[in-house]
Amino acid sequence: MKNYSVLHILNLYHIYKNMDKQEKKNFYQHKCDYYQFFVKIILVIASLASLAYLVSDYQLNGHVFKPTLIPRVSVLLPLIFYIFLEERAKSYKIKIFLNYLMLNLIVMTTIWSVYHLQIKTHFSEGATIMNFLFLVCCLSSSPCSGLLGYGAFFAEILLSHQWNHYENLDVILSLNIPCFGAIMLAHCLLGLAELDHYLTSGKLEQALITDPLTTVYNRHKMYRLVQDNQLIVSEFPVSLIMLDIDYFKKINDTHGHSVGDQALQYLGKTLMKEINESGTVIRFGGEEFVIILPGCPPEKACEKAEHLRKKIASSEKRPVNFTISAGVAEYNGNFKKSMKAADHALYQAKKSGRNQVFWNREFQIEMTG
Ligand code: GH3
Ligand code: MG
Ligand code: MG
Repeated sequence: MKNYSVLHILNLYHIYKNMDKQEKKNFYQHKCDYYQFFVKIILVIASLASLAYLVSDYQLNGHVFKPTLIPRVSVLLPLIFYIFLEERAKSYKIKIFLNYLMLNLIVMTTIWSVYHLQIKTHFSEGATIMNFLFLVCCLSSSPCSGLLGYGAFFAEILLSHQWNHYENLDVILSLNIPCFGAIMLAHCLLGLAELDHYLTSGKLEQALITDPLTTVYNRHKMYRLVQDNQLIVSEFPVSLIMLDIDYFKKINDTHGHSVGDQALQYLGKTLMKEINESGTVIRFGGEEFVIILPGCPPEKACEKAEHLRKKIASSEKRPVNFTISAGVAEYNGNFKKSMKAADHALYQAKKSGRNQVFWNREFQIEMTG
């Protein structure tokens, strides 16, 4: 459980201020993706519930059908369009625009209904109730869009005064202006609370896919790449390098576990630096690493693996002298089989004396077949 303090909130605001444009976009997209479903449901329920005002119309006008039935029921038309368009919209900006448009259309049909009421003073209560919906909409939106949405609400009240001639416009405004202030404050505070949640879940997500010792990715990242079909959509050919430290047990036994750990850290750092953006480095387990190289044919992957092998074998910066062996395979669409092919190539490299790179093309063809 987190205890919020003013200092913590100020710190979150500082973080928000220092985020660049793209980071803010990602945050608002995440916020919208998370809350939009609930906002949509509440707007749909509110639109349908606005039909219940036919009862109060009857109490004020003494007739249930005339003349507010059409303005009240007319809310259903934009509602259908809202549901249709909201489902198809991907960008948070469009979804937020649709939310505030729908909300303001509920307001407009209410104003149209009030035009037909003999007693219009109760619009002050009706307009105040709308604040509840503005508060709900702030869950998925940004303070700026909230400000625009609420501005349109005020404009509709002031503009409709030309026809509705509210006797108590001063009361309508004095009830809604404090509500506006409260909603904008809620917008900012709820936004910062959501930012805290977003940052924490980002850190957890990163921790889940990172190996704490070497800081390269772990198996979770590999499973995600395979399950999400990111390797299928990425540029073919894709190559796999499976590499392993030679006689690592001996290093642990001779120099101690902590020197063994340092060797793993050094290898992880070197692989990340050398592979950089061209692939994904994963600690598969123990002293075994897998490198996934999209858009790289196995011949080129062999060259890369050979470069890595030479670099490690000749490095002056190693915490202890060690070498690596590597097996290369082409990813054929079946990850399990391709990993088996790379593992088999690594086994061949070990069997042939270690400190070498192997690509067992025949075995690979056999596996594919
Ligand atoms: P080969 O050349 O055939 O690969 O021999 P090897 O000694 O490298 O392989 P083996 O599988 O016999 O030993 C791997 C060792 O790696 C055993 C295990 O204690 C050690 N190991 C696994 N994870 C870690 C770790 O996180 N830190 C350290 N220091 N050692 C680890
Ligand atoms: Mg080993
Ligand atoms: Mg091993």
